[in-house]
Amino acid sequence: MAKRVESPSSLNTFKQCKRKYYYQYVEKLPTLPNIHQVRGNIAHSCLEDFYDLDISTVNEDGFEMHFKKEMQKMLLMQWMKYKPRLQVLKLNKDQERFYFEETMLMLMNWTGHFLNDVQNEMEKGKSLQEAFKALTPIREMRYQSDNYSVQGFIDAIHHLEDEVHIVDYKTNAKFDFKDSIRLQLAIYSLLYFEKHGVLPSKVGIFFLRQKLKMISVDEELLKLAQREIELVHAHTSITENIFDYPRTITPLCRWSTGECDFYKTCKPHNQKN
Ligand code: SF4
Repeated sequence: MAKRVESPSSLNTFKQCKRKYYYQYVEKLPTLPNIHQVRGNIAHSCLEDFYDLDISTVNEDGFEMHFKKEMQKMLLMQWMKYKPRLQVLKLNKDQERFYFEETMLMLMNWTGHFLNDVQNEMEKGKSLQEAFKALTPIREMRYQSDNYSVQGFIDAIHHLEDEVHIVDYKTNAKFDFKDSIRLQLAIYSLLYFEKHGVLPSKVGIFFLRQKLKMISVDEELLKLAQREIELVHAHTSITENIFDYPRTITPLCRWSTGECDFYKTCKPHNQKN
């Protein structure tokens, strides 16, 4: 059986619950859209497009307000673009307003951090345009490794003087590096290292409600990625029998406001593994 091309998300699904992995990646049952996913896509689109702003005529006096207004316009535009996907979720007006405003706060928070970075660059003697250019990352870059049979989309790769920083954006409420995030960052480091032959200096998450959090990249992080990728391939490349993918029943099956995408198919609380 050929190795499937895994991703940070599929590997983390496997680690969370093998049955869930089976439904999603072997049987390929459809997943259900939810507001967190759609709002995450909207925020990512704004952050990606922000760096394409034409700032050639922006004046250094009052540039902060200009960037904030541009980000606000971007969110409005993206929200309208995603309207068909939002409508599928059947949110009422209050719920939609709540998520829109919450997303606006996150993007304004990010913009505030970006403005500080611009200011720092300008204090080193750069013009506004030079500072903006220096801070513009490579965005939405797809990396795939045939060797490890794994792929990933990296949100932002920053080249800062002699360092490379890899950043992923998250709308998560919690400001912590849980194991799934550490694995995602380890895989990005491995993919980057394999393609470019050098380790990125740091990888991290920009938690949009808070701030950027980075860790240094070392051999241990690469080994973590290699180990986890191999463990999943060793299992998934020899069997597609549902009974080899047992349920892991936890509060992630069903919680107060939602449930696993496959809850109704799986019926975790009605059957034995
Ligand atoms: S409902 Fe629970 S046990 Fe079933 S697939 Fe989802 S996470 Fe796994």
